[in-house]
Amino acid sequence: MAAMPDPSQWHEPARDVPVMGRPDVLVVGAGSAGIAAALAGARRGAETWLIEASSFVGGLATLGLINLLLTMDDGNGHQVVAGLCQEFVDRLEARGEARFPPPEQWNAEDPDAVDRWRRWGLIWGAPPEAVRYSVAFDPEAFIDVAYETLAGAGVRLRLHTWCAGALVSDGAVQAVMVESKSGRQAIVPSVVIDGTGDGDVLKAAGASMEQVTVPPYLWFRAGGVDEEMLAAAPPGLWFRTTGRGRVLVPWGPAPDRVDPCDPDDLTRAQLACREAARASFDGLRRDVPAFAHAWIDDYARMLGITESRRLQGDYVLEKGDGDVRFPDSVARTGHWTRRHVVYDIPYRCLTTSALGNVLAAGRCISTTRYVHQATKEIPAAMATGEAAGAAAVHALGSQGRVHAVDVDSLRKDLSGSGVVVGGPDHGGGAPGAGI
Ligand SMILES: Cc1cc2nc3c(=O)[nH]c(=O)nc-3n(C[C@H](O)[C@H](O)[C@H](O)COP(=O)(O)OP(=O)(O)OC[C@H]3O[C@@H](n4cnc5c(N)ncnc54)[C@H](O)[C@@H]3O)c2cc1C
Repeated sequence: MAAMPDPSQWHEPARDVPVMGRPDVLVVGAGSAGIAAALAGARRGAETWLIEASSFVGGLATLGLINLLLTMDDGNGHQVVAGLCQEFVDRLEARGEARFPPPEQWNAEDPDAVDRWRRWGLIWGAPPEAVRYSVAFDPEAFIDVAYETLAGAGVRLRLHTWCAGALVSDGAVQAVMVESKSGRQAIVPSVVIDGTGDGDVLKAAGASMEQVTVPPYLWFRAGGVDEEMLAAAPPGLWFRTTGRGRVLVPWGPAPDRVDPCDPDDLTRAQLACREAARASFDGLRRDVPAFAHAWIDDYARMLGITESRRLQGDYVLEKGDGDVRFPDSVARTGHWTRRHVVYDIPYRCLTTSALGNVLAAGRCISTTRYVHQATKEIPAAMATGEAAGAAAVHALGSQGRVHAVDVDSLRKDLSGSGVVVGGPDHGGGAPGAGI
């Protein structure tokens, strides 16, 4: 007698899937890290593809309305994130869509300077507060800059395409399975970079991950705010933006935690956060005269998830590593709430011995929860993305084997592109001098 099928399972028959292409480098996820990774790969001459589930690029930095680059310095007046992140700042500034303190103000504790930049959302952390090199930017301009630079570099961008799996054999990802309106397709890359934030490729490929639940946020923007009245009022939990009469409200956290990889949880949170954010806006309109005639311009299209899955890779960067200058460091970051805390990010935080041709970039790199507070920030995400994109190209000379990369020459390559790579021989530049 044939065994009864398990009613809780459906057997999907095996099938052949069309191969979409065989790029040198496939970047999955076009958040700030994925954009930087794709640019770094393509500008070094690799055929580079960038796959994104949504209809925009930028991830939390644009769809999530997290429109603050915190931070590009070490809290001691030295710039520690440069490279592509600095290029984006320059391009945003040229459009009039970025605001940041000039170098001579970095590290200043002068109350007037602190008050000025606090109103832009650029001052955080415990007293004594100081001005940092952080940047407020417009999300639509960030998207435009991303499209312009990706096209200029020759990246093949495919939006509306979701990574749904990874096929692994011989310790490497042989194919990344994607789903879109065109159905299921396979991409067969030499090297894969996981820029999904949630580590979807790494997880699907069986890498060891740590996952947490978090309280979500839903930032929103209000228009029609009276700027003169706002300037005369004490600072509140809203930030100036590059648009006149428009403020950014960092609503959250919601009272209930969510599993950021559970769509039912996310859906519940999306609805509840929207209702609560609307109520908070109604309160502002009622209680703060500058908001009396304001309206909601937009809610974040992406729920504010500070943390989901993190790779537990070849090295897990931890709290005590703040003072360690790693010889294989490929990026450096400060800490947005703690001055004088600087982490070098070793190449081993982007790799896992479980997978020979995969690199992590952005908020899913290999760190503890504590260090993630620093490495998840947009400048650091762009820095690890840039490092991953460059490393992928270096790996092409060894059939895509990321562990065969000569890290010294990778560091030289990145340094030559204006990246602060960190490490014992790269202590950062003079105060206010860039790198
Ligand atoms: C409430 C909140 C406040 C924050 N405040 C700041 C701040 O003030 N300053 C700062 O610098 N940072 C801040 N951060 C952190 C920062 O915004 C993020 O950590 C950073 O933007 C992460 O970039 P990422 O590219 O690694 O990931 P994400 O921005 O999450 O991008 C991942 C991209 O991958 C796509 N994707 C996901 N899964 C798939 C898949 N399976 N297939 C295809 N595509 C996929 C997503 O659509 C997205 O575009 C904050 C974060 C939150 C939530």
